[in-house]
Amino acid sequence: MKTLDVMVLGGGPAGAATALTLARHGCSVALAERSDYASDRAGETLPPAIQPLLVQLGVWEQFLEQKPAPSFGVRSAWGSAELRSHDFIFTPYGSGWHVARNHFDALLARCAAEAGAQVYSSVAEPQIVEKGKAWQIDLSTRGEHRRFQAGLIVDATGRRAAFARKQGARRILFDALMGASVVFPARESTPSGFTLIEAVENGWWYSGVLPDSRLIVVYMTDGDIYARTRKDGWRAQIDRTRHTRLRMNLRDLPFSETRLAAANTSRLDRVAGPNWLAVGDAAMAFDPLSGQGVYKAIQFGIRAADSILRRNGYGGDTSFQEYADAVARGHTSYLKSWYQFYDLERRWRSAPFWRRRNNRGC
Ligand SMILES: Cc1cc2nc3c(=O)[nH]c(=O)nc-3n(C[C@H](O)[C@H](O)[C@H](O)COP(=O)(O)OP(=O)(O)OC[C@H]3O[C@@H](n4cnc5c(N)ncnc54)[C@H](O)[C@@H]3O)c2cc1C
Repeated sequence: MKTLDVMVLGGGPAGAATALTLARHGCSVALAERSDYASDRAGETLPPAIQPLLVQLGVWEQFLEQKPAPSFGVRSAWGSAELRSHDFIFTPYGSGWHVARNHFDALLARCAAEAGAQVYSSVAEPQIVEKGKAWQIDLSTRGEHRRFQAGLIVDATGRRAAFARKQGARRILFDALMGASVVFPARESTPSGFTLIEAVENGWWYSGVLPDSRLIVVYMTDGDIYARTRKDGWRAQIDRTRHTRLRMNLRDLPFSETRLAAANTSRLDRVAGPNWLAVGDAAMAFDPLSGQGVYKAIQFGIRAADSILRRNGYGGDTSFQEYADAVARGHTSYLKSWYQFYDLERRWRSAPFWRRRNNRGC
């Protein structure tokens, strides 16, 4: 049995940032990831402000070596059918980025391993029991079995919050948004370098050109609306757009099946216990419209690591409470802007998707 200070469950951006930061500060930490990072993942647009976080993690050079595609801004038809531009050039860091998310996540996990974390991918659901003041964790990876004892568990398993919910934390849902994404060949004439957002009666669309010149197109709507309208088919939905359909050659077959992902705004009612913390989407999850999911996952991953280091050092018992307070403040301030942003779109006030979102901040 190996003894660890911390076991991090989930090797997305939040888990990798937590493990990397802890390892750099001399903690013995393991990162257990369910996947092998081979498949496409949702969340490919990173805002310009990701740069200082990646610099802080010490991975900026490695990130640039992956040749991410620069994203110079967002064009949106939101509140009116006309396209408006929001250029990143006026932000302190110049451009945002389009990345292949599985490669980006794998890079962060690799950097955590280089910093000294023990990283295990392709793990089956970890078996965890509390033994006195520690956790006993059984991990199976590709037929190999390992047993660990850890003083702390960090739940970075995404919206599932697989571990925290077993500790009795409840997920508070603010909507039922989901994303249906398809990857197409980009047309040669498709302008790249920006994210396109377009509101429609049943939700909204976003699209962006990935580093390998594929075009990802995502339909965001509520679960029940998707279920009701899916018989019309994806093509019928895209035909209702004005701008998004022009980015693709509709005669092309998509590279991929439609991939569905939960995209609700949600948070846990409790993000820390005496010997566990939740980070990233597990703790609080944002609407992809905000473009903040990965940024916040890394920012709060670093913060969670800091609160663990402070608790193990001079910070005493208040550091987890301070972390929980920071998560609560972060989510409250996000909710305010989220309500305001949806309220800007008033063209379909009687349509269920918008009726659920208009006037919510009042
Ligand atoms: C459709 C859609 C589009 C999005 N677009 C953007 C975008 O453009 N920009 C942006 O910044 N954000 C976007 N987001 C949000 C962003 O993807 C998330 O906020 C971000 O991935 C959160 O990181 P995380 O590490 O907390 O969780 P995740 O990225 O979900 O990582 C969780 C990890 O845990 C692993 N895991 C799960 N269960 C277990 C287990 N039991 N044991 C071990 N491992 C486990 C998973 O395999 C995964 O690797 C989007 C989300 C959706 C749904």
